[in-house]
Parts: sequence; structure tokens; C-alpha cells
Amino acid sequence: MIERENRTIVHLDLDTFFVSVERLINSKLIGKPVIIGDTSDRGVVAACSYESRAFGVHSAMPMYLAKRLCSQAVFIRGDMDLYSKYSRLVTEIIADKAPVFEKASIDEHYLDITGMDKFFGSLKLFFKIISIYA
Ligand SMILES: [Mg+2]
Repeated sequence: MIERENRTIVHLDLDTFFVSVERLINSKLIGKPVIIGDTSDRGVVAACSYESRAFGVHSAMPMYLAKRLCSQAVFIRGDMDLYSKYSRLVTEIIADKAPVFEKASIDEHYLDITGMDKFFGSLKLFFKIISIYA
């Protein structure tokens, strides 16, 4: 017999993570269109800010097209070591708060908060956890 139970899983996806890290180390980027990725014409957009998305730029877009759509953007090659470092910091915070979690990618985590609702209420716990992102 397979026992099934309802589980409560929270999916946390950091919003424009690479851009947020760049803005942490350079506050002048806040409010500006930022496009991150291999800036050669053969490159693709790895991440972009909402300000650049307003011009039609999106992730995985060819860089030459992003340059054409939003030439005024700040173009950054990106630093995966730096993003990985900040990703680990986020994971540490989550590990400290959630008993069962899985890191799905550099900016995504799944948290199993099943049973914790008995103590806190799942929704309340969820908001407590996401407050670390604010
Ligand atoms: Mg994300």
C-alpha cells in the first residue's frame, strides 16, 4: 500500500537575481535598464532588469537584438562566481529557516514545509520565509 499525504511545497524563485546582485555591489544600477550576458554579438541575454524588459528585452534573447532594442542599457558581462557566492548566502538563510529544502538552481529553492502549519500556519510561515527576500 502506498501512503500518500498532502504536502506543502513552497517554490522560491529570486526575481532578476543576477541584476539584484549587481545592484548590491553597485547602487548606481538601481532604476536603470541593465542587461547581463556575453556582450559580444554572438552572445545571449542571461538576465535583464525590468527597466530593460520594458523595451522588449528578455532572457535568452540574442545580445545583438537586445542592443538594438535597448541601446541605452548598462551591459554587464556577468560574474558567475559572484552570483554563486550570493546564491550560497541565500541557501544558508533558507537552510537556517526551513527543515527540508532543495536547491533547484542558482536562484530557485523548493521548501517542504509540510507539518509546520501545525505550529505556524503554512501561509504565515511562507510569508516569514519570503521576508528574507525583501
Ligand atoms: Mg529567478
